[in-house]
Amino acid sequence: MFVPVSKPFLNEDEHRLVLEAVRGGMISGSGGNFIDTFEKKFADFCGVKYAVTTTSGTTALHLAMAILGVGPGDEVLISTFTNMATFFAVLYQGAKPIPIDCESKTLNLNPQLLEEKITSKTKGIIVVHIYGHPVDMDPVLEVAKKYNLFVVEDAAEAHGARYKGKMVGSLGDIGCFSFYANKIITTGEGGMITTNNPDFEKRAKILKSLAFGDNDKFMHQYIGYNYRMTNVQAAIGCAQMDKINDIINRKRNIAKFYLENLKDIKCIQMPVEESYAFNVYWMFNIILKDKLSGKRSLFMKELKRRGVETREDFVPFNQQEIFIRQGLTKPEDCPVVNSFFKDGLYIPSGTDITEEELRYAVEQIKEVVNSLCI
Ligand SMILES: *Cc1c(COP(=O)(O)O)cnc(C)c1O
Repeated sequence: MFVPVSKPFLNEDEHRLVLEAVRGGMISGSGGNFIDTFEKKFADFCGVKYAVTTTSGTTALHLAMAILGVGPGDEVLISTFTNMATFFAVLYQGAKPIPIDCESKTLNLNPQLLEEKITSKTKGIIVVHIYGHPVDMDPVLEVAKKYNLFVVEDAAEAHGARYKGKMVGSLGDIGCFSFYANKIITTGEGGMITTNNPDFEKRAKILKSLAFGDNDKFMHQYIGYNYRMTNVQAAIGCAQMDKINDIINRKRNIAKFYLENLKDIKCIQMPVEESYAFNVYWMFNIILKDKLSGKRSLFMKELKRRGVETREDFVPFNQQEIFIRQGLTKPEDCPVVNSFFKDGLYIPSGTDITEEELRYAVEQIKEVVNSLCI
């Protein structure tokens, strides 16, 4: 038996729409119906007025920073525990990212730590809904309002997650999503910006397509980018949108299975769902603790030998050697993340994982825990 961490959830629907796009000759990012349709479906799903496709989650984040006018001399507060793409987006604009430490249960940014990091240079906040659990947004929005800061949501792992009933991607000024192959829904590679601000939508559409001129096309308006998703990718996205609620249900059922069947297990911290949250459990992340702390590589190796694939957690910003060397951060900046990231990993959470595979994974995890938690 081999149980992968994740694999894309595709069937005839994707095949049919991709073929339709290719047969119609509409394969670029500058034509074809699937791009508009995907954007419309995604905006409706998130409960926002506008959605704009991009080539990745990373370029969605960069576009958001460009739209918001982030530049040299600005500071942006960001959850330290994330894919480094969130930080790169700010660095591409020549601005300075400031890492914010986590809450120990949700692993999301701790809103109580924001205010002390605000300076006259602070321009905004990027929250990350990590592993599909929404950030506690009200205190974040309150601080943002008090200091006149923008709020960008990195929702790359959290399509369909809700905070107090409201969809992520609709809570801040701009939401950024990824459709990489292992995300909640996929287009292979791809991304999306969501917003209710017509001005942001307009700027996103101009900047993502080389900022071509209005009347004289090749008289460019600004320094633009080519962040255009292709119509072929958008065709996959349209097919995925028809199953997004099914996918989220499956993710929640996987989590329910693990939570029930691993509930008495020792030495492991499990994911939570706070009272304000609807968690989409993108990946089921566990943290080794007590006698298992420090044994992650052994734990993963032993599971791999038994055919259960796992993946280690992100290395947070405050531990990245290149940024420490550049003087942008130091490990001590975020003590809470330091206490868990080396012990964190996620276990098989693929959308179409079977009950048999889940049972097998649980059995193997229990055995490995019993052998190592001594
Ligand atoms: C995947 C991911 C990204 C980057 O998205 P890509 O589509 O891979 O560029 C950014 N932030 C988070 C939190 C992610 O998980």
